[in-house]
Amino acid sequence: MFDRGTYTEINISNYLYNIDLIEKKAGTKAIPVLKANAYGHGAIPLAKALVKRGVDMIAVAFLGEGIEIRKSGVNIPTLVFNYVKPEYIKENMENFIYTLGSIEQLNGLIEYFGSDIKKIDFHININTGMNRMGFKREEIDFLIKQIKKYDLNIKGIYSHFATADALDEFVKEQYYNFISAVDYIEDNGIELPIKHICNSAAALFFPEFAHDYVRPGIATYGLQPSDIEKEEGLKPVLSWKSVVAKRGVLKAGESVSYGRTYFAKQDIPIATIPVGYADGYFRQLSNKGYVLIHGKKCNIIGRVCMDQFVVETTKVENVNLGDEVILIGEQNGNRITAEELGTLAETINYDITSKITWRVPRVYID
Ligand SMILES: *Cc1c(COP(=O)(O)O)cnc(C)c1O
Repeated sequence: MFDRGTYTEINISNYLYNIDLIEKKAGTKAIPVLKANAYGHGAIPLAKALVKRGVDMIAVAFLGEGIEIRKSGVNIPTLVFNYVKPEYIKENMENFIYTLGSIEQLNGLIEYFGSDIKKIDFHININTGMNRMGFKREEIDFLIKQIKKYDLNIKGIYSHFATADALDEFVKEQYYNFISAVDYIEDNGIELPIKHICNSAAALFFPEFAHDYVRPGIATYGLQPSDIEKEEGLKPVLSWKSVVAKRGVLKAGESVSYGRTYFAKQDIPIATIPVGYADGYFRQLSNKGYVLIHGKKCNIIGRVCMDQFVVETTKVENVNLGDEVILIGEQNGNRITAEELGTLAETINYDITSKITWRVPRVYID
């Protein structure tokens, strides 16, 4: 695994520090979101750290992610955001909380479970404007009717913002839709013990909407949830490191890598970095991305291949085989962030870290 000299380093103390910071800013407790292998950071070690710290609940996108965490010995209440087939719910009732997100899903569950449906713990998802999951306002009467008829075990209610990162008026509109749905359901005699709506951006920038819990993902990893407003207090969690695998000179007129997309105008010193798109280093960073060697910026020249890419090292003196290369993180006071790589690859920080593949070992430090 470590033979290649490429790995990510995950700082668990910084992860826990960020959760404390978010809870302080929001004024309420967090349900840390560990979906997509904790946005590439590795869900199991972080879940174990959360158990030690103490959290009431974690959240994942899919049941399979929750089962994997459970198998590692972590047994805390786990909220599953997405649709799960009834037969899989049946085998995983203990300490899993399922999202009730549509009438069709509810009807299917009633058909499959009959009166046993009351054994399932649910959080209701209200569609307040995201329009991907959840009950619309006009569906709530039917929902209420079925909750009463089947004595459903409703443990909580939530919704999700579409534009919390943009800090716009739609956030408020969604919030009022949420509150009005919550009030309506409660006025009909249904108890909703837990209410939550805030993702990272909302937890940090709209703490007045926090309610009982916030559901931060991206900010717990020290990554910025918005490109409009920064939370400077967050500490970076992930660094991605490699080594110089070869050094050389690209002579004037020569090209480098597949497709010959870069030609040297004069002789330039170059280095080969043993990382490629099969590691999750975006191919879109061809001729755009950069790395740090000895703290100096070295631009990618030519295309990113499956396992390697080439950088120019004009600013660096004495490059040696095995020298540390920073893909994300800090070196000699300079830093490359996932946000920066996201911008260069025309995507977002979430996409950059969550795509770092299985081929890159994760090392955990405290
Ligand atoms: C992914 C997700 C979150 C976390 O969002 P961040 O922007 O990463 O904080 C919260 N709630 C739901 C429903 C999600 O799908």
